[in-house]
Amino acid sequence: MSEVEEAENIQLIRSNSNNSNKPVDEEHQKLLETEYQKLSRKQKRQPETWKMNVNKVLCQSGKKRQDVKGNIRRGRNLKTLKNCESNCRLKEKTGIEDNERNIREKHVQGKTAAKLNRDLDKQNEDEQIAIVCFDLENVFALPPSNISCFFYSRKLNTYNLIAHCSLQKQAHCCIWSEGTQGRKGSDIASVLIRKLDHVIDDFPHIKTIIFWSDSCVPQNKNSIMSLALMKFFEQHPTMEEIVQKFGEPGHSSIQEVDDLHSQIEKKLSNLEIFSPLGLLHLLSTVNQRKPFKVFHMRENKDFRMYKEATQTMNFKKMSYASLKQLKYCSTTPTKVYYKLYHNDETYTEVPIVY
Ligand SMILES: [Zn+2]
Repeated sequence: MSEVEEAENIQLIRSNSNNSNKPVDEEHQKLLETEYQKLSRKQKRQPETWKMNVNKVLCQSGKKRQDVKGNIRRGRNLKTLKNCESNCRLKEKTGIEDNERNIREKHVQGKTAAKLNRDLDKQNEDEQIAIVCFDLENVFALPPSNISCFFYSRKLNTYNLIAHCSLQKQAHCCIWSEGTQGRKGSDIASVLIRKLDHVIDDFPHIKTIIFWSDSCVPQNKNSIMSLALMKFFEQHPTMEEIVQKFGEPGHSSIQEVDDLHSQIEKKLSNLEIFSPLGLLHLLSTVNQRKPFKVFHMRENKDFRMYKEATQTMNFKKMSYASLKQLKYCSTTPTKVYYKLYHNDETYTEVPIVY
């Protein structure tokens, strides 16, 4: 037999054996695997049976559970959570008129769209996109006391703006007192820009930043904030895009910030704090595992007066109260883009130069 013939024969035998024995092979393989599993002591990962995950499911469905320390935690009533049927300002009532019903329908749709959009952003794995959620925390009146006359005459209000950055899940706190500045649009914008500077320092490769905040028009959704964010491109030329997204009023969909709030509240509930500096120290010890980055806003350095600068541009065409998303691009510094609903496909373009 020549070499070529031999090679052909071998190929034929192989193809035959492959065709006829395929199912048997698979079955055999499966049998072997099960036998192996019975014999070997090697365990497979089954995350759904882990104590931590079982507890998480029980907790989220409001059932009774045992925590890590072995204490029994009571179940909670999930109906008290905020949804549009129980304690929303637009809850379903009998005998509402058509226009009221329309407003309610839009509200529910807006809420769902915001939630969907938020969930999409949470799945983001692109290293060049940072998702920053922020909110102004309840004002601290220092020092804490329960005596009313003392309360009203000897208090220093201290503000804390909390932000959570999706990259490395880092929390930032910015502290300033009412002696330094208030909490108007210009102040909030200055604080946010200071925080962004730090985010860029930590992650210089970022090209896009997506903000999530509540829809408070005087603080987060106004021409001052737009101007501050557009000026931000001038200082950081590597940045390409900033998007601001707003939740539906009454339904904040920013669990990250809410979680930080409750951590702080828990830590500070039994402590005496006498000054903003004391608060600064305490905040940096709130989370031991991943300490918050805490900044003190400096009076003359960090706060900028953006309000006068907004007069040089034409923001009058923007209807800030009704929009849900805002976009700024470094390539078009004279334009602002907005969406009225989260599920709109394209942005509407507005030139802001006179
Ligand atoms: Zn609602």
